[in-house]
Amino acid sequence: MGSHTPTTMKAALCKEFGQPIVIEEVPVPVPTGRELLVRVQAASLCHSDLTITSGALGSLPRPFIIGHEAVSIVEALGPDATGYGIKIGDSIGAPLWHGMCLECLDCKEHGPDFCPKKLTKGVSAPGYFSEYTLVDAACAVVLPAGDAASTAALSPLFCAGITVWDALERAKLQSGDTVAIIGAGGLGGLAARYAQAMGGKVIVLDVLDDQLHNLKGKGVADEILNTRSVAPEEVPAVVAALNKGRLVDVAIVTSGALPAYQTGLSIIRTQGRLIAVGIPHQELALQLAVFTGRCISLIGAKVPGQRSAQKCVDFSVRKGIMPEIHPRKFKLEDINEMMQLMEQGQVQEGRMVVQFF
Ligand SMILES: [Zn+2]
Ligand SMILES: [Zn+2]
Repeated sequence: MGSHTPTTMKAALCKEFGQPIVIEEVPVPVPTGRELLVRVQAASLCHSDLTITSGALGSLPRPFIIGHEAVSIVEALGPDATGYGIKIGDSIGAPLWHGMCLECLDCKEHGPDFCPKKLTKGVSAPGYFSEYTLVDAACAVVLPAGDAASTAALSPLFCAGITVWDALERAKLQSGDTVAIIGAGGLGGLAARYAQAMGGKVIVLDVLDDQLHNLKGKGVADEILNTRSVAPEEVPAVVAALNKGRLVDVAIVTSGALPAYQTGLSIIRTQGRLIAVGIPHQELALQLAVFTGRCISLIGAKVPGQRSAQKCVDFSVRKGIMPEIHPRKFKLEDINEMMQLMEQGQVQEGRMVVQFF
């Protein structure tokens, strides 16, 4: 570690589910194996952090440091972290995976992000709401040099951005395809911008007028539809009317609401693709005849690994597609207030980011 690295640091800990987060002084971790010790520059709060700290994912060992999306500066390399093209002083971000074995069949054939042994930062491995943390070098993406503010703004890309990027890659989007995005929130907004930049026509569907008009106003959505404004059985015809009489080639469901999935299925053309991103908390009853009769594909998407994350960051920077960031510069001590604001749905201005320096 650098001679200036302190031995203790401030960290935001979840000690009990459903209780306020506690800021405490804890030891700065020491990198082993492939780990990089990083100084966190900016960490953004995600809706999943609320779900995780509420206890809804079931019991987890506590206390744990929360947070899974950030940009950081590399301070020290573990003994096996060389050979990944990362050096001290680099600005990096990473998908939330940690400690993949790199040896199992999933690691080798499908990618380390499928490793059954992997840990998840902010859940089963210490997260980013702390002054320092460890990042798996096999996940790290080196960021282009930029000023501190623009680098900090990249933080949410490492959750929402790379997840919808994975969805679009799995959709095998062709230029000229029409993409319906169901759910106009942070994920949906980024998905819409990526899809447009890839040459797609974008129709965004939601049940909230404000979010839809926000996207349409910015030109991010070519067409919008509030699905509450028409009867469910009329949605396919209304969508087709917005698309020269055709149903959509791809539907990406970013919402976890069951009706969003039903809407998605109803508007896909024959042999089209439905990409599942939002995770419903209930089971979805599927009419399999929809799939067999019209050969529709249902494809899952998730937080990808290093390779896709790198492509997503490169594309975002090249096309200037940046997540929307809340104008307030939050401190680590604001974490409970941030969570409250998010819980109450009072943040329309963009992702809330803790900026450490
Ligand atoms: Zn997230
Ligand atoms: Zn593995």
